Amino acid sequence: MPTAPLLTFTDKGIYCAEGDFFIDPWRPVPRAVITHAHSDHARPGHGQYLCTIGTAPVMQHRLGEIAVQTAAYGEAVQINGIRVSFHPAGHLPGSAQVRLERGGEVWVVSGDYKVEPDGLAEPFEPVPCHAFITETTFGLPVFRWQNQEAVAAQIMGWWAQNAREGRVSVIGAYALGKAQRLMAALTPIGPILTHGAVEATTRILRQQGYALPETLHATGDVSGKTHPGALVIAPPSALGSAWAARFGPRSEAFASGWMAIRGIRRRRGNATGFVLSDHADWPGLNTAIRATGASRVFVTHGYTSAFCTWLLEQGYDAQIVATPMPPSADTEDGAA
Ligand SMILES: [Zn+2]
Ligand SMILES: [Zn+2]
Repeated sequence: MPTAPLLTFTDKGIYCAEGDFFIDPWRPVPRAVITHAHSDHARPGHGQYLCTIGTAPVMQHRLGEIAVQTAAYGEAVQINGIRVSFHPAGHLPGSAQVRLERGGEVWVVSGDYKVEPDGLAEPFEPVPCHAFITETTFGLPVFRWQNQEAVAAQIMGWWAQNAREGRVSVIGAYALGKAQRLMAALTPIGPILTHGAVEATTRILRQQGYALPETLHATGDVSGKTHPGALVIAPPSALGSAWAARFGPRSEAFASGWMAIRGIRRRRGNATGFVLSDHADWPGLNTAIRATGASRVFVTHGYTSAFCTWLLEQGYDAQIVATPMPPSADTEDGAA
């Protein structure tokens, strides 16, 4: 008798019937295994949550009172006979791929991931498996990232020039992940000021031991006069806002993988675009998939049909998984 597939794709999310749990479900379920704390993955309303030790504090900050069980990377948790473990996804501090094993059969749900180490998030670890579920947010050959050092140098140059010319530098970066990655990657030439949303998650990560530089929460009286040459890190929605205007003369910038597309860069108005993503680029996706040794690949999010066709041409047993919910706007790179 053939056994049922380890995972199926339902209208609530990725489901393991034998273990009776979901992975990053988008509707409330009794038991959820969570890859990372971005709001399109860690949603409110589940009965029980299982995530990494690094993911729990920010998730609890965002979701309030929830029942959470945590596991270290590599630690096995048995759920109704299924062996579940987390492995670094390199996407942001604490982010994980979920490995499931039943008998000798292994499936991996990668969540959001990035192959290039960024010096802050636990580096991506290839996990050998039979079936691999991957996102394809940037699954076209046009997406090829420069390394982080090169992008950091561009941002430093922009910051230094603004400081010389008497302007504050305001950079839009998602409050969880990208904001801290920037802080860690840049060599401060002036004070780093933060928007409240950025400061809150930064504090939580700092308390967990992630090496982050000193930041100052930019409350009402903080401006370019009180803190000349400052870099302000704020959520993208703060760009061009009254909140940003109070810093006085300033330059604004936005750091995202989408900045690789000129039309999107232009729609960001006056902001300078830096191409920096916490998702794998085209070579990264291909490297990651190859490294798993998987023969079956399921693709979710993004350029799914182009990427699926590419995988089929490469000889993979590939298929698209429809995800009904659009990524929410405050997630890293989920939205343009
Ligand atoms: Zn994410
Ligand atoms: Zn996501």
